[in-house]
Amino acid sequence: MSKNTPIVIITGGARGIGFGIGECFAKAGYGVVVADVNADAAKAAAQQLLAAGAPTSLGLACDVTDRASIDKMVAQVVAQCGRIDALVNNAGICPFVDAMEMTPEVWQKTLDVDLTGPFHCTQAVAKHMIARGQGGRIVNITSMADTHTNANQVDYAAAKSGLRMMTVGFAIALGPHGITSNAVAPGHVLTDMTKHHWSQPGPAQYIKTRVPVGRMGRPQDIGHACVFLASPQAEYINGITIRVDGGFIARND
Ligand code: NDP
Repeated sequence: MSKNTPIVIITGGARGIGFGIGECFAKAGYGVVVADVNADAAKAAAQQLLAAGAPTSLGLACDVTDRASIDKMVAQVVAQCGRIDALVNNAGICPFVDAMEMTPEVWQKTLDVDLTGPFHCTQAVAKHMIARGQGGRIVNITSMADTHTNANQVDYAAAKSGLRMMTVGFAIALGPHGITSNAVAPGHVLTDMTKHHWSQPGPAQYIKTRVPVGRMGRPQDIGHACVFLASPQAEYINGITIRVDGGFIARND
């Protein structure tokens, strides 16, 4: 690995959208750090990303609900790679529990992973970026639930709409340091989080007819948007959300 190789950290990067984001960064020449709550899965994903062309890749344990775990992961990356150019806050959960059945524990866990986790990761990584003085990129993975929701996603929508506004707040706080903060809001992407629903015949047909481009999203669709927001060409884009949903939200029916 050359000392000029840019380094990206992707939380929850061991599978699903996070892994697809990692593949896109690997192809774009980034060294990729897979920071996942499951250490073995993170290491296995890092090996796969090396095979996919990443100039370097690390799989590190990181629970985004635990600030000490985040600080340890960031220190390991700085020690081994010497730099952090981009952070993708991707780790997220969506338990799908009806609002009136939801326990305080479920509510709190979703907020901890989906909202407080990105806050801690951003603060920890941005401290390093500011000290290094070379700018940086923060990309938060939100959701269509940042503006729309259902009775079984009150926790998730509260977290994702909060993350949309946290993206804006950090854009203002970090912009003077050459660090941008933006969000990517995926539409319906087939991953372990969603496949139990979208693999069924009815929902699959709904996607074909209701999504203007006529298909589910792929993890790489989200990854390409992240790579763009992390690129030098995106240096003047700050505080926005890019919707990657095949036009789903654009339709008013
Ligand atoms: P998956 O459930 O497939 O993958 C999530 C990954 O995050 C897993 O590797 C998981 O580890 C990890 N993770 C969970 N909790 C933590 C934690 N506390 N600390 C670190 N890592 C953790 O999800 P998706 O790929 O579908 O979703 C990724 C992101 O995209 C989420 O933020 C989600 O809200 C968002 N999104 C997804 C959509 C979709 O249609 N799939 C649509 C819109 C947004 P483990 O496997 O060990 O639990």
